[in-house]
Amino acid sequence: MTHPHRLHATAAVWSLRAAWPHLAHAAEVERRQLLVDDDAGTLRAQVYGTIGGSTMHHSNGILNAILGAERRTGGDQLQRLVASTRETMIWLAGRILDDRYRPGDPVLTALLEQIPLIPPVAAAEVARWVGEADSAVRAALQLGPDHEPLVGVPCPACGSRRLAVRMSAPADRSVVCGGGCVCTGADCLCGMDERPVGILHIWAPSSGRLR
Ligand SMILES: [Zn+2]
Ligand SMILES: [Zn+2]
Repeated sequence: MTHPHRLHATAAVWSLRAAWPHLAHAAEVERRQLLVDDDAGTLRAQVYGTIGGSTMHHSNGILNAILGAERRTGGDQLQRLVASTRETMIWLAGRILDDRYRPGDPVLTALLEQIPLIPPVAAAEVARWVGEADSAVRAALQLGPDHEPLVGVPCPACGSRRLAVRMSAPADRSVVCGGGCVCTGADCLCGMDERPVGILHIWAPSSGRLR
Protein backbone atom coordinates (compact mmCIF):
# COMPACT_ATOMS: atom_id res chain seq x y z
CA MET A 1 0.00 0.00 0.00
CA THR A 2 1.73 3.16 -1.17
CA HIS A 3 0.64 6.61 -0.11
CA PRO A 4 -0.09 8.92 -3.08
CA HIS A 5 2.28 11.59 -1.73
CA ARG A 6 5.08 9.01 -1.97
CA LEU A 7 4.02 8.06 -5.50
CA HIS A 8 4.06 11.71 -6.60
CA ALA A 9 7.43 12.30 -4.91
CA THR A 10 8.99 9.23 -6.48
CA ALA A 11 7.66 10.07 -9.95
CA ALA A 12 8.94 13.65 -9.66
CA VAL A 13 12.46 12.59 -8.63
CA TRP A 14 12.70 10.06 -11.45
CA SER A 15 11.47 12.67 -13.91
CA LEU A 16 14.08 15.22 -12.82
CA ARG A 17 16.73 12.53 -12.88
CA ALA A 18 15.79 11.67 -16.47
CA ALA A 19 15.91 15.34 -17.54
CA TRP A 20 19.16 16.12 -15.71
CA PRO A 21 21.72 14.73 -18.21
CA HIS A 22 20.02 16.76 -20.95
CA LEU A 23 20.35 19.91 -18.85
CA ALA A 24 23.98 19.16 -17.98
CA HIS A 25 24.78 18.64 -21.66
CA ALA A 26 22.99 21.82 -22.76
CA ALA A 27 24.75 23.82 -20.03
CA GLU A 28 28.13 22.53 -21.20
CA VAL A 29 27.34 23.50 -24.80
CA GLU A 30 26.33 26.94 -23.52
CA ARG A 31 29.57 27.29 -21.52
CA ARG A 32 31.70 26.47 -24.55
CA GLN A 33 29.73 28.91 -26.69
CA LEU A 34 30.38 31.65 -24.16
CA LEU A 35 34.11 30.92 -24.30
CA VAL A 36 34.03 31.25 -28.08
CA ASP A 37 32.10 34.52 -27.74
CA ASP A 38 34.63 35.73 -25.18
CA ASP A 39 37.51 35.05 -27.58
CA ALA A 40 35.64 36.81 -30.37
CA GLY A 41 35.05 39.76 -28.07
CA THR A 42 38.69 39.98 -27.09
CA LEU A 43 39.68 39.86 -30.74
CA ARG A 44 37.13 42.56 -31.55
CA ALA A 45 38.52 44.74 -28.78
CA GLN A 46 42.07 44.29 -30.10
CA VAL A 47 41.01 45.15 -33.64
CA TYR A 48 39.12 48.23 -32.51
CA GLY A 49 42.07 49.20 -30.36
CA THR A 50 44.46 48.97 -33.29
CA ILE A 51 42.16 50.93 -35.54
CA GLY A 52 41.44 53.47 -32.83
CA GLY A 53 45.11 54.31 -32.34
CA SER A 54 45.28 56.95 -29.68
CA THR A 55 41.74 56.17 -28.49
CA MET A 56 42.64 52.50 -27.91
CA HIS A 57 42.26 52.64 -24.18
CA HIS A 58 38.89 54.34 -24.46
CA SER A 59 37.57 51.85 -27.05
CA ASN A 60 38.62 48.88 -25.01
CA GLY A 61 36.82 50.27 -22.03
CA ILE A 62 33.58 50.65 -23.92
CA LEU A 63 33.83 47.25 -25.55
CA ASN A 64 34.62 45.54 -22.31
CA ALA A 65 31.64 47.23 -20.73
CA ILE A 66 29.39 46.01 -23.54
CA LEU A 67 30.75 42.48 -23.34
CA GLY A 68 30.38 42.47 -19.59
CA ALA A 69 26.78 43.59 -19.89
CA GLU A 70 26.10 40.84 -22.45
CA ARG A 71 27.46 38.30 -20.02
CA ARG A 72 25.44 39.62 -17.11
CA THR A 73 22.14 39.75 -18.95
CA GLY A 74 22.21 36.19 -20.14
CA GLY A 75 23.92 33.58 -22.12
CA ASP A 76 24.53 31.50 -19.01
CA GLN A 77 20.94 30.72 -18.01
CA LEU A 78 21.39 26.97 -18.25
CA GLN A 79 24.53 26.96 -16.14
CA ARG A 80 22.72 29.01 -13.53
CA LEU A 81 19.78 26.61 -13.68
CA VAL A 82 22.14 23.69 -13.05
CA ALA A 83 23.58 25.45 -10.01
CA SER A 84 20.28 26.64 -8.56
CA THR A 85 18.55 23.29 -9.07
CA ARG A 86 21.42 21.44 -7.44
CA GLU A 87 21.40 23.85 -4.50
CA THR A 88 17.65 23.47 -4.06
CA MET A 89 17.87 19.68 -4.08
CA ILE A 90 20.69 19.64 -1.55
CA TRP A 91 18.79 22.05 0.67
CA LEU A 92 15.67 19.88 0.36
CA ALA A 93 17.52 16.66 1.18
CA GLY A 94 19.13 18.30 4.21
CA ARG A 95 15.77 19.54 5.43
CA ILE A 96 13.75 16.36 4.82
CA LEU A 97 16.33 13.68 5.45
CA ASP A 98 18.31 15.46 8.14
CA ASP A 99 21.41 13.42 9.04
CA ARG A 100 20.35 10.60 6.69
CA TYR A 101 21.69 12.87 3.95
CA ARG A 102 25.41 13.50 3.97
CA PRO A 103 26.60 16.42 1.84
CA GLY A 104 28.30 14.99 -1.21
CA ASP A 105 25.97 12.02 -1.55
CA PRO A 106 24.12 11.88 -4.87
CA VAL A 107 21.09 13.87 -3.84
CA LEU A 108 18.40 12.43 -6.10
CA THR A 109 19.46 8.88 -5.26
CA ALA A 110 19.27 9.70 -1.56
CA LEU A 111 15.77 11.10 -1.98
CA LEU A 112 14.61 8.05 -3.94
CA GLU A 113 15.95 5.70 -1.28
CA GLN A 114 14.33 7.56 1.58
CA ILE A 115 10.90 8.39 0.14
CA PRO A 116 9.40 5.05 1.26
CA LEU A 117 10.64 5.73 4.81
CA ILE A 118 9.62 9.34 5.40
CA PRO A 119 6.14 10.47 6.56
CA PRO A 120 3.62 11.24 3.80
CA VAL A 121 3.66 14.94 4.70
CA ALA A 122 7.43 15.03 4.06
CA ALA A 123 6.94 13.13 0.80
CA ALA A 124 4.42 15.81 -0.21
CA GLU A 125 7.13 18.45 0.26
CA VAL A 126 9.56 16.44 -1.83
CA ALA A 127 6.91 16.08 -4.54
CA ARG A 128 6.27 19.83 -4.57
CA TRP A 129 9.87 21.05 -4.62
CA VAL A 130 11.15 18.41 -7.02
CA GLY A 131 8.07 18.76 -9.23
CA GLU A 132 8.70 22.50 -9.55
CA ALA A 133 12.38 21.97 -10.28
CA ASP A 134 11.57 19.31 -12.86
CA SER A 135 9.06 21.61 -14.58
CA ALA A 136 11.59 24.46 -14.70
CA VAL A 137 14.30 22.22 -16.14
CA ARG A 138 11.97 20.72 -18.73
CA ALA A 139 10.64 24.16 -19.70
CA ALA A 140 14.19 25.48 -20.20
CA LEU A 141 15.01 22.51 -22.43
CA GLN A 142 11.61 22.54 -24.16
CA LEU A 143 11.09 18.97 -23.01
CA GLY A 144 7.54 17.89 -22.31
CA PRO A 145 6.51 15.98 -19.19
CA ASP A 146 7.36 12.30 -19.03
CA HIS A 147 3.78 11.25 -19.72
CA GLU A 148 2.81 8.44 -22.08
CA PRO A 149 -0.92 8.06 -22.72
CA LEU A 150 -2.57 4.99 -21.28
CA VAL A 151 -4.83 4.23 -24.20
CA GLY A 152 -8.33 2.88 -23.80
CA VAL A 153 -8.68 3.23 -20.06
CA PRO A 154 -10.97 5.91 -18.60
CA CYS A 155 -10.04 7.64 -15.36
CA PRO A 156 -12.02 5.89 -12.61
CA ALA A 157 -12.55 9.25 -10.89
CA CYS A 158 -13.41 11.76 -13.64
CA GLY A 159 -14.04 9.48 -16.62
CA SER A 160 -11.68 11.35 -18.97
CA ARG A 161 -9.47 9.28 -21.21
CA ARG A 162 -6.36 11.20 -20.35
CA LEU A 163 -4.60 8.77 -18.06
CA ALA A 164 -0.85 8.73 -18.55
CA VAL A 165 2.04 6.62 -17.36
CA ARG A 166 4.99 8.51 -15.85
CA MET A 167 7.74 7.01 -17.93
CA SER A 168 10.95 8.15 -16.23
CA ALA A 169 11.11 5.40 -13.63
CA PRO A 170 12.83 2.28 -14.94
CA ALA A 171 10.09 0.09 -13.42
CA ASP A 172 7.03 0.40 -11.19
CA ARG A 173 5.72 3.38 -13.11
CA SER A 174 2.74 5.15 -11.66
CA VAL A 175 -0.25 6.50 -13.56
CA VAL A 176 -1.68 10.01 -13.34
CA CYS A 177 -4.80 11.67 -14.76
CA GLY A 178 -4.14 14.34 -17.38
CA GLY A 179 -7.56 15.73 -16.59
CA GLY A 180 -6.08 17.10 -13.37
CA CYS A 181 -8.78 15.57 -11.18
CA VAL A 182 -8.22 15.59 -7.43
CA CYS A 183 -9.30 13.19 -4.73
CA THR A 184 -12.48 13.94 -2.83
CA GLY A 185 -11.72 11.57 0.03
CA ALA A 186 -13.27 8.36 1.32
CA ASP A 187 -16.22 8.39 -1.08
CA CYS A 188 -14.08 9.18 -4.17
CA LEU A 189 -14.43 6.69 -7.01
CA CYS A 190 -10.69 6.72 -7.78
CA GLY A 191 -9.94 3.52 -5.91
CA MET A 192 -6.58 4.76 -4.59
CA ASP A 193 -5.60 2.87 -1.44
CA GLU A 194 -5.32 6.10 0.52
CA ARG A 195 -7.34 9.16 -0.40
CA PRO A 196 -6.11 12.47 0.96
CA VAL A 197 -8.63 15.13 -0.03
CA GLY A 198 -7.35 17.50 -2.73
CA ILE A 199 -4.36 15.47 -3.92
CA LEU A 200 -3.95 15.00 -7.68
CA HIS A 201 -4.85 11.41 -8.43
CA ILE A 202 -2.02 8.95 -8.88
CA TRP A 203 -2.19 5.19 -9.00
CA ALA A 204 0.48 2.68 -8.12
CA PRO A 205 1.46 0.47 -11.05
CA SER A 206 -0.19 -2.49 -9.36
CA SER A 207 -3.53 -0.73 -8.91
CA GLY A 208 -6.40 -2.96 -9.95
CA ARG A 209 -8.60 0.04 -10.67
CA LEU A 210 -7.01 0.77 -14.03
CA ARG A 211 -7.92 -2.40 -15.84
ZN1 LIG B 1 -9.30 11.92 -13.76
ZN1 LIG C 1 -9.82 9.98 -5.34
